[in-house]
Amino acid sequence: MYKAKAYSAGSAASPLASTTIARRDPTEHDVQIEILFCGICHSDLHSVRNEWSSVMPTVYPIVPGHEIVGRVTKVGSAVTKYKPGDLAAVGCLVDSDGTCRQCKAGLEHFCPNQVLTFNSPDKHLGGVTYGGYSDSIVVDERFVLRVPSNLPLAGAAPLLCAGITTYSPMRHWGITRGKKVGVVGLGGLGHMGVKFAHALGANVVVFTTSPGKREDALRLGADEVVISRNADEMKKHAGSFDFILDAVSAEHDINAYINLLGINGNITLVGAPAKPLGVSAFSLIMGRRSLSGSNIGSIAETQEMLDFCGAHNITADVEVIPIQKVNEAYERLVKSDVKYRFSIDMASLRSE
Ligand code: NAP
Ligand code: ZN
Repeated sequence: MYKAKAYSAGSAASPLASTTIARRDPTEHDVQIEILFCGICHSDLHSVRNEWSSVMPTVYPIVPGHEIVGRVTKVGSAVTKYKPGDLAAVGCLVDSDGTCRQCKAGLEHFCPNQVLTFNSPDKHLGGVTYGGYSDSIVVDERFVLRVPSNLPLAGAAPLLCAGITTYSPMRHWGITRGKKVGVVGLGGLGHMGVKFAHALGANVVVFTTSPGKREDALRLGADEVVISRNADEMKKHAGSFDFILDAVSAEHDINAYINLLGINGNITLVGAPAKPLGVSAFSLIMGRRSLSGSNIGSIAETQEMLDFCGAHNITADVEVIPIQKVNEAYERLVKSDVKYRFSIDMASLRSE
């Protein structure tokens, strides 16, 4: 065991503050990573503030962060894929049982015994796992990913959650050239959704509540931007979409988007608002439309996504911040004021 620097919150009402935490010494299958950048996901904020208390209650203190890139500092004796000095990444998952139906099918992100990067029982040290707002982390090599060397690291970090969470459903629902795809909510996930849909050749429409994001949406790859509070603009698209990705973090009217789907159209929720959303049965029935959800992606698909990003030069648009600004960043996240992902430069923690 060794001590690592980190930022943690002690309760739902406390700000994040500097602390030290215990990390395990790498076992034979482990990779120890010096964290260089960690993205700030809205899930970090939901968890720190215990907004998902009914589904996954937060255990305090919490060290959030699951968009991690860094450099390998040490590997266990049985590790074959990584060596000290390599770039490496870690996303939302650090372990799974490896024996259930989902794990056997390569879908460990649906394993009932999955271990999340933070706030999951830690079988090594007891307590819960601690995430990437830290100067280092130790992870089983099966859950460590390779970062293409051409990608800038600050913008690559958000691929580990925002990237895979938007890439996976687009692949699952067969987004290809010529499909009409909507992306709702231009935040961290949404802006990655726009980049992927555009790279896959779709006709992309962004739905935003923030008129000030119109130009950015077009620059990111949208063909059209709809201000979702404008009913006339919304009506123009009724019944026309093949697929809509809903990446909104707060309560909103999902029926307004279901009505924009064509026959057999699908809307996938990746946004995880704390409160249930009301769904109109008629909106789904009239058009054999479907509503689904999607959770991150498997480790293999995450590597596929990273390689796709390497080949297409895709990274997140980031605002790099020192960790001392993390509480301010959370306040801005709540106001939808992020362009389009905060990425923490962990050198700021090392020099504290
Ligand atoms: P984010 O950067 O804060 O973006 C959320 C966006 O939603 C905002 O930028 C805003 O876009 C829109 N929005 C916010 N409040 C709204 C409201 N009241 N009504 C309508 N639109 C609103 O968050 P994120 O990190 O992308 O995460 C988005 C959601 O996905 C969160 O709930 C997060 O927990 C969840 N998530 C799920 C998974 C998964 O595996 N399924 C993985 C990661 C994150 P506009 O300004 O464009 O309207
Ligand atoms: Zn996330």
